Amino acid sequence: MTRTIEDLIPDYLRGLPVYVPGKPIEEVERELKIHAVKLASNENPLGPSPKAIAAAHAVLGDANRYPDGGTHLLRKALAERRGVSLEEIFIGLGSSEIIDLAARVLLRPGLLGLTSEGTYAPFSVAIRASGAELVLVPQREFAFDLKTMAKAITPKTGVIYLANPNNPTGSAFGREEFDEFLASVPDGVLVVLDEAYIHYALSMGLRDSEEAYCKRKNLLILRTFSKVYGLAGLRIGYAIGRPELLAAMNKLKTPFNTSGVAQAAALAALDDKEHVARGIETNAVERKRMIATLEMMGFRPVRSEANFVFINVGPSAKVLSDDLLRLGVIVRPLAWMGFPEAIRVSVGTAEENSKLFTALGQLLPERAVKDELAAS
Ligand code: PLP
Repeated sequence: MTRTIEDLIPDYLRGLPVYVPGKPIEEVERELKIHAVKLASNENPLGPSPKAIAAAHAVLGDANRYPDGGTHLLRKALAERRGVSLEEIFIGLGSSEIIDLAARVLLRPGLLGLTSEGTYAPFSVAIRASGAELVLVPQREFAFDLKTMAKAITPKTGVIYLANPNNPTGSAFGREEFDEFLASVPDGVLVVLDEAYIHYALSMGLRDSEEAYCKRKNLLILRTFSKVYGLAGLRIGYAIGRPELLAAMNKLKTPFNTSGVAQAAALAALDDKEHVARGIETNAVERKRMIATLEMMGFRPVRSEANFVFINVGPSAKVLSDDLLRLGVIVRPLAWMGFPEAIRVSVGTAEENSKLFTALGQLLPERAVKDELAAS
């Protein structure tokens, strides 16, 4: 019997879903010939820090050279700021790469990877792609149910993935709840704590998880430059973790995973405290306005600690997203993340959010008529 290339693809990879990105704004504008706003991928609506843009420009002329594969300057800056050693910082091609590397290093067929239903889909993909078995614990009120997750740990569990705040629900667990959870995780199980949105959670600080990290050897904290630092397009993120684990991840990453432009921009963005503060402040004001406006319209959005809002809108979630798209507002329907009746809306600038409210105001009466007709 002749073997084909397809035969070489393992069964556990065949069934994996493809990541569905938010619709690009250019595509929508081209197709519909309208000006559109993108509230679909939780990006920073204020753009990158001007200092990051200048730093990126300044190194473009070196693009003929490979970048520093050891990402020395950025790791040094992060190590100093976070109060850890250079060996405890890993720079990834976005935090996405680190999500994947943690599973590739620690999981394999015969082991279990644990996460929650209703969280960031790449966690499940990373677990399944390693050949390990995926264990999903149901959520409680759109949040991680850490008590039930702790009970789901077995001697075969290798890695647990958590996002705090969670994407797509925007909920967050507090320090006490997390400490209690960590206390019930054996030393031989790695907890990956993805803090992509931590800056937006006003009740929490970066130090909360870092203090937990100091006490435990089995915590890997993930952060990204894609959100508050406004550099999603440059693909750069980092992890704080134990040197042994990071050294193993280093062997698996591609030799020059992050570009010199991304490293320079990230370094400058770290120093632009004013830009970060403005991003946090704008988000807090606009998130509050978005939640209040949605509630006034009769929706019941989930309380959000992030830069997006999760809304259960009922069975017509996909139709509503398509209707909003027609009016030039790109939001994210969430069936692919396990919520067929929900949409997620990123918090934009005041102007972008107003465009969403106007579009919803236009669509809601149409929806009410349709619902009435369906019910009659
Ligand atoms: N983790 C979470 C929870 C996210 O929502 C996202 C992106 O939306 C990422 C990680 C990916 O971040 P990065 O752009 O650093 O790969």
